[in-house]
Amino acid sequence: MFVVMTVGATEAEILNVKGQILAEGMNPFEHAGAERVVIAVVGEIGARKPVLVDRLAALPGVEAVTPISRPFKLTSREFHPEDTVVRVLDAVIGDGSLTMMAGPCSVESREQLFETADAVKAAGATVLRGGAFKPRTSPYAFQGLGVEALRYLAEARDRTGLPIITEVMEPSQVDIVAEYADILQIGTRNMQNYSLLRDVGRVARPVMLKRGYGATVEEWLMAAEYIVSSGNPNVILCERGIRTFETYTRNTMDLAAVPLLHHLTHLPVIVDPSHATGKRWLVKPLAIGGIAVGADGVMVEVHPDPDQALSDAEQQLTLDQFRDLMADIVPVHEAVSGLAARPLVGSSALGIGGGLAKH
Ligand code: PEP
Ligand code: MN
Repeated sequence: MFVVMTVGATEAEILNVKGQILAEGMNPFEHAGAERVVIAVVGEIGARKPVLVDRLAALPGVEAVTPISRPFKLTSREFHPEDTVVRVLDAVIGDGSLTMMAGPCSVESREQLFETADAVKAAGATVLRGGAFKPRTSPYAFQGLGVEALRYLAEARDRTGLPIITEVMEPSQVDIVAEYADILQIGTRNMQNYSLLRDVGRVARPVMLKRGYGATVEEWLMAAEYIVSSGNPNVILCERGIRTFETYTRNTMDLAAVPLLHHLTHLPVIVDPSHATGKRWLVKPLAIGGIAVGADGVMVEVHPDPDQALSDAEQQLTLDQFRDLMADIVPVHEAVSGLAARPLVGSSALGIGGGLAKH
């Protein structure tokens, strides 16, 4: 549930409400909305709920106490109706602009990274990706250059001005990755690694949480809830495909998840057609499809010589293919942004969007 303060509630009244919530053994999370402050009450409420609702509703400065119907609370639109906008260096994610995250699957050398970084920057990428610690299915496959790759990524950021995103695989890596990277990525295999989620919830870096390949949307949002409830509100969701019975593609890209997520949550949504399809020639149509259904951006793998790549060779775009993708995706994004101003069809009783675009 959350406490809706009156318009113009004083700081003392807000503090008093938070103090009462803490005294009940629950955690208060304040969100300053456009007009008024709302405070989520997070924790195991159980049978005390009716008593607590009455007690909080009677406090000075409180207008109402409202239940949150979803199991995810802080990440829900009910609690936080406005879109979350993540700002990192010059990149703004979730404000309606087109986010393009591009770069190699793995950082293989300084030269390979710089050549890719320069090319994707010139073509219009807004974030540079590159794997340093690689989660590989086989223990014998290339595992990434580790800290050496983090240093190259930091140099590439200095060179291009692009913020860098890279994966953190385990709690012991969080500090070192956060020292170099601008955005921390949690990979599909770690979506329910709760100690890792809590740890990235405590650092001052945005986190991109990829969907577990066997996870429902609700499990995914509950994983995001771990990060936000640990203190980090800057979470980005990434649909990277789920496992189905289909074998022609590496995974099945769940495009319906994009508008669904915009309906359920205020967090920005990115699509990753590289890992979703596993095939270079399918990346562009699915990237465009993701933007057409309202994604805030795309993450794609790009390599100067994909066939020689040390990981995910079949799905990485060439530099030319990335330029071609940019040329075709920008107008689609512009066309879809135009739809955002239209009234939504099929909005829920809560007045929360159900249309093609999220606004
Ligand atoms: C990646 O982006 O490098 C990656 C390993 O992706 P995923 O976790 O989605 O497989
Ligand atoms: Mn990859």
